[in-house]
Amino acid sequence: MNGTLDQLPFLGHNNILECLHSSLKSERVGHAYVFVGQKDLGKTRLARYFLQCIACEDFSGVHPCQTCRACTALGKGIYADFYLLDRQTDVKTGKIKKNISVEQVKKLQSDLSQRSFYSRYKLILIHNAHTLSDSAANALLKSLEEPHKKTVFILLCQNEGSLPATVLSRCQIVRFHPVPTKLISRFLQEAGRDRKVSDHISKLSGGRAELAIQYYENPQKYEEYKEKVENFLNFLEIPIYKRIESFSFLKKTPSSEIAAEASGYVCIWMSVLRDIMLVRQNSEYHTRNYFMLEKIKKVSHRFTNKKLTELLQSLRAMLGMIDQNINIKLLFEEFLISI
Ligand SMILES: [Zn+2]
Repeated sequence: MNGTLDQLPFLGHNNILECLHSSLKSERVGHAYVFVGQKDLGKTRLARYFLQCIACEDFSGVHPCQTCRACTALGKGIYADFYLLDRQTDVKTGKIKKNISVEQVKKLQSDLSQRSFYSRYKLILIHNAHTLSDSAANALLKSLEEPHKKTVFILLCQNEGSLPATVLSRCQIVRFHPVPTKLISRFLQEAGRDRKVSDHISKLSGGRAELAIQYYENPQKYEEYKEKVENFLNFLEIPIYKRIESFSFLKKTPSSEIAAEASGYVCIWMSVLRDIMLVRQNSEYHTRNYFMLEKIKKVSHRFTNKKLTELLQSLRAMLGMIDQNINIKLLFEEFLISI
């Protein structure tokens, strides 16, 4: 990735960075953090950056040195005092398991009780912390209540309400918010990108810098996005009985990749329905998918605001259910005929 673009996910999160840096300088690093915020806001990248600052043997107070033993090992993914926890894949079905299990947490605790390899901090990053099973969360709570010395946990999740209050109460909560799209556009232009493309990508990203990077670095993904928006708008105009058969995604065999793709569809549909709502309120300027504005206007008369609100609520609920390995085909079919 372009060196300059590497800094993009930190954009708009300066207050968070300053807080974390000052905890390092004053040697008051917390033992557990929860990074909360929607997908693609840069939580993972910032968490990894902070953990690297902690591990760095020659930390300048601003950036990790990138050359010491710890920085080098972390860069290669072989730092012995770094632990990553996430849902595992079921070897038989190929599906991602529903939960982070208690066995995984107990294995982690056993590893943490061993001597530190570098005689420094032990660093733990927990992805999708909302998927900790009840017993896994309970087991983890013990580590959070009586932390080993020099241990830092960072839990990542999209919604803090999805974590047990007992776990939250033991952690410092760091909230991530979407960044103003103008900031992202200006950043891309300053990095030498074309103004029109920068404006377009930043608007489509909805203030999520990681997504802006993906669209920028992978033009095909960007084209696919536009195609999915157009397909959904076309879809709204075809009779109900033809909708399910016309949606080829539902013919795919369920797998963990399909779940990720399904979440992508839901996010795009939410953005289109939100745009339809904005058009109905004469706020076209704020639409995200303005490249399809004419079509959005055309279908907008088909919906009431009440119906749009209901559909958006259904999609939000679907996002949570996809995470829980619910039957995606059934979920999508129900939604498609309810529009
Ligand atoms: Zn270093």
